[in-house]
Amino acid sequence: MSTIHSNTHTESSDLSGLKGQLPLVGLTGGIGSGKSVVSDLLGKLGAGVVDTDRIAHQITAPHGLAIPAIEMQFGRGYIDANGALDRSKMRTLVFGNPDARKTLEAITHPLIRQETIKQAKDLVAHGAPYLGFAVPLLIESMSWRSLIDLLVVVDCPEETQITRVMQRSNLPREEVERVLQAQATREDRLAVADVVIQNQGSLTTLEGEVNLLHQKILKIQKDLLGSS
Ligand code: ADP
Repeated sequence: MSTIHSNTHTESSDLSGLKGQLPLVGLTGGIGSGKSVVSDLLGKLGAGVVDTDRIAHQITAPHGLAIPAIEMQFGRGYIDANGALDRSKMRTLVFGNPDARKTLEAITHPLIRQETIKQAKDLVAHGAPYLGFAVPLLIESMSWRSLIDLLVVVDCPEETQITRVMQRSNLPREEVERVLQAQATREDRLAVADVVIQNQGSLTTLEGEVNLLHQKILKIQKDLLGSS
């Protein structure tokens, strides 16, 4: 979804109390690989899913939690007529300006973290059999990697990623390529994956793969309950 927010280790801290209670599954993949689609499918099957990219988007949507601080730090010019973050303008600013990126992340990360923890705890309270955390830069974060029990990587060829994101987010090719270059490579992700979901075919094929994944995680959950 959003292409300007990255995660840091901070989002995963405070979730460690959940470890051992239920399986904690990390869902990652490059931009446009299909993380959100996989998250939604798992959610429909009954998983408890927290999508950190979606949270990043919500807090910068009209009247989002991050908007007042962004306006204060960056000025009214970065807020659009609807009261949302002007994504295109901010994207341009932070790509060429690490300090501005840090300032933006100092605002967004604590809010994303707070909401991630809140949603995770709510899902557990409502009886979720396991938690799936969709995190774009998961493999880059050691603290996320040490938290999760199973690392699921959604994978497709780079050209497919580019085409999908150009369509989904109405972005020019160069911009999508810039995001891709700032992320871990496909090979890096595949090297650390416990499970790879191939997403280069149809949505029906993907649904079948996600069903199998769900069953596999439910089995891990049963084993965990049996051993506690
Ligand atoms: P990510 O969350 O990894 O950035 P999304 O889940 O948003 O990626 O998927 C990117 C775009 O590609 C979305 O518009 C989504 O609907 C579409 N998409 C994902 N998987 C498929 C597929 N197997 N077939 C067709 N479109 C797909």
